[in-house]
Amino acid sequence: MLPAADDSVRCDACPVICYIKPGRAGACDRYANRDGELVRVDPLVILNRTLAQGGAVVPFHKTGDWDGQILQEPETFVTAIGAGTTYPDYKPAPFIVSSEVRGVDMVTVVTEGIFSYCGVKVKVDTDRHLGAERNLVLAQGEPVGHVTTVEYGSQMLSLGGVNHLTGGSKSEGRVTCETLLALCNGKPAELCIEGGATVIVQAGKAPIVNGVREDRMRVGCGSAAIGMFAKQWHGNVDEVVVVDDHITGVLSEHRAGKFLGIVDTGIKMKGRRSTPGRYFQVAVPGTGWGGTNISEPLSILGPFNPEKAWAGLRLLMVSTTGEHFAYYELDQGLVPVERELPAELKESVERIQENCEPALCTVLFMAGAGGSLRAGVTENPVCLTRSVKESLTHVTCGGAPVYIWPGGGITFMVDVTRVPENAFGYVPTPALVAPIEFTLRLADYAALEGHMDQVRSLASFGNREGQRQLPQRWDNPWPFGSRPFGVRQ
Ligand code: SF4
Repeated sequence: MLPAADDSVRCDACPVICYIKPGRAGACDRYANRDGELVRVDPLVILNRTLAQGGAVVPFHKTGDWDGQILQEPETFVTAIGAGTTYPDYKPAPFIVSSEVRGVDMVTVVTEGIFSYCGVKVKVDTDRHLGAERNLVLAQGEPVGHVTTVEYGSQMLSLGGVNHLTGGSKSEGRVTCETLLALCNGKPAELCIEGGATVIVQAGKAPIVNGVREDRMRVGCGSAAIGMFAKQWHGNVDEVVVVDDHITGVLSEHRAGKFLGIVDTGIKMKGRRSTPGRYFQVAVPGTGWGGTNISEPLSILGPFNPEKAWAGLRLLMVSTTGEHFAYYELDQGLVPVERELPAELKESVERIQENCEPALCTVLFMAGAGGSLRAGVTENPVCLTRSVKESLTHVTCGGAPVYIWPGGGITFMVDVTRVPENAFGYVPTPALVAPIEFTLRLADYAALEGHMDQVRSLASFGNREGQRQLPQRWDNPWPFGSRPFGVRQ
């Protein structure tokens, strides 16, 4: 806190340097002036493994007095959520906490990082075409990211990043920051894709594409679906076409059909034949059958070859989710006539549906912690980078596991649904605020020129006002790991 001329307090936790009047909060709502004291508004989140395992709940204290209860090692982990930031980074991190884990002295350096270099990677489980790769993604009319490479059964968006946060107009930066914050905190965001769909994205929830909630992600591509279900179709139908924007499968031509001895049907597919029974570009991308633009499946067929086809030939056309299907029989002129789906084929369509996983949105926060933030950990920042690369220092985000990218820097990704709720904040520079913890052996911390004079014991935290104890999620590993870090392989 910097001195102020009146009874305001000056917050120096980010470059905005707010003057905060008594009883008011700063521009980010993270800090406030309480009786002349600068306080972090949100409670410090402490993870408790005993609670996760069904142990007694530790009561919250309203008096502000320490109840004398000592936080248990190694069952307690101080996260950076609510810890605050000590910008500029020449100051040590707000909390550098020592604890003993299975007889080894450990330390966790805890800080809320301010990330100008950050964004989210969004996986939207749907075959529906959301927009062409590289097209802009807009929120509130502002560009906040772009469509990136389609993955298996999912459309991918890359949102945020320093260029949208700082490289465009003020409004673009503000809206980008708002959008990232909403998504990281598990809130919905409405995104419009240039020349494509409008999609409501929310981590861990089904996407809503053009107002329609997506139920299922596809069972596989059209060719994979033929491979998976060929046996179930054999004998019940003469030909199957699995319609897919990427690889449409045709049973009689496919290796799986040949293996079962299914005879040629004289079917003629539009699109580009890749290998037998696999066709690309049978239609253009869209929100219809199998991620194509078609609503009439016969539009991707040419006339049947009269030398091979026969009247009465049974044809099933189905999409990769089983959401769309139609059954036909060829008449005397070898023209497909739609008929009611026979019971045995209904079962196979239901099997496709059953094998489709629920469609979800996944949001991974990605940020670079390899910059000035490191100075809050050590006098010699590159030592922290090396220590992370050597797996001597374990990085978590609000106690959640992260993936550290190989190569330079400390670029990490975390699934936002594994981080305790409302762990993310923002500052109006604009940038996102995210918790980050570095845990390592105390001896290794000393070796990397850590701020040893700032180390405080876990016991000194007590159980105080302004803390919130949460159980660690059952599917998150305990941040101290199954063995102390620092064991070189
Ligand atoms: S925006 Fe928030 S963190 Fe930044 S100076 Fe103002 S109150 Fe402090």
